[in-house]
Amino acid sequence: MLVAGNWKMNLDLAAARQLTSGLVSTIGKTETTLVAICPPFVDLDATYNILHGSGIRLGAQNMHELDSGAYTGEISAPMLKAVGCHYVILGHSERREYFGETNESISRKALQAQRHRLVPIVCVGESLAQRDGDRQNAVVEEQIRQSLSGISIAKGSELVLAYEPVWAIGTGRTASPDQVEAMHTHIRSLLVELFGQKNGYAVDILYGGSVKPSNALELFARSNVDGGLIGGASLSVDDFASIVRSAESAASS
Ligand code: PEP
Repeated sequence: MLVAGNWKMNLDLAAARQLTSGLVSTIGKTETTLVAICPPFVDLDATYNILHGSGIRLGAQNMHELDSGAYTGEISAPMLKAVGCHYVILGHSERREYFGETNESISRKALQAQRHRLVPIVCVGESLAQRDGDRQNAVVEEQIRQSLSGISIAKGSELVLAYEPVWAIGTGRTASPDQVEAMHTHIRSLLVELFGQKNGYAVDILYGGSVKPSNALELFARSNVDGGLIGGASLSVDDFASIVRSAESAASS
């Protein structure tokens, strides 16, 4: 199980330090669940210093596809490694929608992340219109094939996939456990086709979209759900810690 918090564009340095300290003292050591937080770039260094030694890992929310150069405002994979990042979220639906990210650019970023030993958390998910048209499987399949083009895996821990239906992100409307399980099973067979049985099963498939303490356990208990990418609820120590405990319970049952 992996539970990762996507803080999005929230929390200045002081607030980031406060939340991170609260998480470290409240979550403590976990048995079966990997925990990560993905703060804004400017909070990464300070939060890493608080996380260090706690077992909670650090991730970033985006990165550029090249090492360095004249790309004003961008951040590279080597820079993220240097401040202690383990993960990087790529192709979040907000990046796709507001910043024009495409499957092609996401696949270049995913390759670059792997080159620098960062684990990409590649996000996919259908819009409401696509779900209403029953096109979710085809849409997600195309996103995965194109966003992972050129990616290879020697051990599954080098890649994480997050299924995040756009209509469930930040809306309070969660996909039902049946909808989530059906999509994750579809994604699993695609990963097996792309990477083989062993590696296809070793990739963690996270669900994201209005996960909260009240629904986390029933989602995490479903097959092929290997944890969650948590937005709003990751900004509260109590909510995020409770979601981590749900992952621990789901993994041990
Ligand atoms: C997200 O943005 O990755 C997300 C899942 O957000 P929320 O949990 O707020 O729906």
